Amino acid sequence: MGIILLYYKYIHIDYPERTVAEQKALCQKLNLKGRILIAHEGINGTLGGPREAIELYKNFMKNNELFHDIDFKESEGSEDHFPKLKVIVKKEIVKFGIDPMLVNARDSGMYLTPEETHALLESSPDDLVILDARNTYESAIGTFKNAIIPPINTFRELPAYIDTNSELFKDKQVLMFCTGGVRCERATAYLKIKQIAKKVYHIKGGIHRYTEAFPDGFFRGKNYVFDGRIAQKITDDIKALCTHCSVPYDEYSNCINAECNKQIIVCQECVTSYHNTCSIACKELVQGGYVIVRKLPHKSAPPTHTP
Ligand SMILES: [Zn+2]
Ligand SMILES: [Zn+2]
Repeated sequence: MGIILLYYKYIHIDYPERTVAEQKALCQKLNLKGRILIAHEGINGTLGGPREAIELYKNFMKNNELFHDIDFKESEGSEDHFPKLKVIVKKEIVKFGIDPMLVNARDSGMYLTPEETHALLESSPDDLVILDARNTYESAIGTFKNAIIPPINTFRELPAYIDTNSELFKDKQVLMFCTGGVRCERATAYLKIKQIAKKVYHIKGGIHRYTEAFPDGFFRGKNYVFDGRIAQKITDDIKALCTHCSVPYDEYSNCINAECNKQIIVCQECVTSYHNTCSIACKELVQGGYVIVRKLPHKSAPPTHTP
């Protein structure tokens, strides 16, 4: 088994195109797959490969003036969990939909280490609000106990959610979290600028680092990831329900109708009765032979999307 690396750093990059070329050449040489997004505001990557190649990659980064102090999060996996290598220039390293000049990671909330996070959650002050900064398909299968789950499908919907629900955060201590921490850097800055919350915290290293330190802590269920593994099991709790019959179930799969390909939670029994589709409509299309059908095995495909 190889390694999947997750990392980011907010740092000014003068020539993102140059960094893209450099990173692409390096990853190709090392046969790594995954996705690296580079912007003037920084770098955000997830890569998979054999341990030796990953070590060489980290060594290269350690010798790089801009990237030498990156916190690399590791978990088990391989390059096979990614469809390909994608290294591209972006306006933002996670799409928040707001100019980085206006909401900058430099203005982010106060970091809490996993230990400090755990202590805060244990003491559970009355004015504490825990905010999941991720999308609903992520929070559906696992989140922190008592967390607020915004009904959002993409990260760029979070600012509007914060705006329309500002009462929730008024004079509160807000603890925000996401998978590895990258989204909270700017999301906490956004909340801070609003000047509604008493305090704004985010977890250093996100769910990844917290659950490493406290595997049986306040995070329950699965941690959604943006590669072919789909999710990492943290605890045995099943937080989600089958889309069709509502039994507790939390494995994602994709609708077999190639045009739909919707990522859904469908239990084993419903997989059979719905012929591997997401809905009656897709089932009828598939049964009638009206659409192209994806190849089984019925397993969720590596996502090509980002948060
Ligand atoms: Zn079911
Ligand atoms: Zn469908």
